Amino acid sequence: MRKKIIAGNWKMNLDLQEGVELAAGIVDGLPALSEGLQVILAPPATHLTALYEATEDVAFLNIAGQNCHHLANGAYTGEISAGMLWSAGASHVILGHSERREYNGETDELLAKKVDAALGQGLEVIFCCGESLETRDSNTQNDFVAQQLSNGLFHIPAEQLAYVSIAYEPIWAIGTGRTASAEQAQEMHAHIRSHVAGKYGQEAADNMSILYGGSCKPSNAAELFACTDVDGGLIGGASLKAEDFLGIIQAMASTR
Ligand code: PEP
Repeated sequence: MRKKIIAGNWKMNLDLQEGVELAAGIVDGLPALSEGLQVILAPPATHLTALYEATEDVAFLNIAGQNCHHLANGAYTGEISAGMLWSAGASHVILGHSERREYNGETDELLAKKVDAALGQGLEVIFCCGESLETRDSNTQNDFVAQQLSNGLFHIPAEQLAYVSIAYEPIWAIGTGRTASAEQAQEMHAHIRSHVAGKYGQEAADNMSILYGGSCKPSNAAELFACTDVDGGLIGGASLKAEDFLGIIQAMASTR
């Protein structure tokens, strides 16, 4: 089933107290959630359990890690495994965010292993892809994104695809205030869906939730979410204020 999903990526922001307060503010203002409309909060890993405990009674509100290691355990100082995320209350994990690709050198090959680790643990995956401005300016973004998906995700068997969402996040739109136009988002999302269909079949592709990320805010969310192939958002900056995040959730709830 294709779900509408709004996920908030808090990145390395908010201390524990601030995070718990933000989660409470979000819970207070949530519209009715359902299997078809889900909200995910991805706080820093130190906040996972507190947020899980603060939100466990809210159906269809889930907690996500922002990354996991590709191995289950071992001498990897500072790392967190999929099993640890799970035991701390996460049901989802974001993998392949462009900031981790850039600052932590995460390659498609490494991400493929992380995808396996996460799915093997029972975590659902939000798999990020997206091109740089240079790639867009050279009009090679479709091939670039298709390659990211083929290399990092398309090794999984069809039965695991139901536990994966894809987030298209053009790097030039992340944290820049410059959003992809609805046309640009729709074109890429349709391309991603057809790429998924080419590998896994049309039914699997139709069931896939494809989220947009990149300077999404209450003022532009409705236009983006009105696109046929945009099934929600991965939200950075605007997920750090309850009012803004709720505005985006409301925009999704009012769509279609
Ligand atoms: C992100 O980093 O996932 C993101 C979409 O950030 P922002 O909304 O701030 O552009």
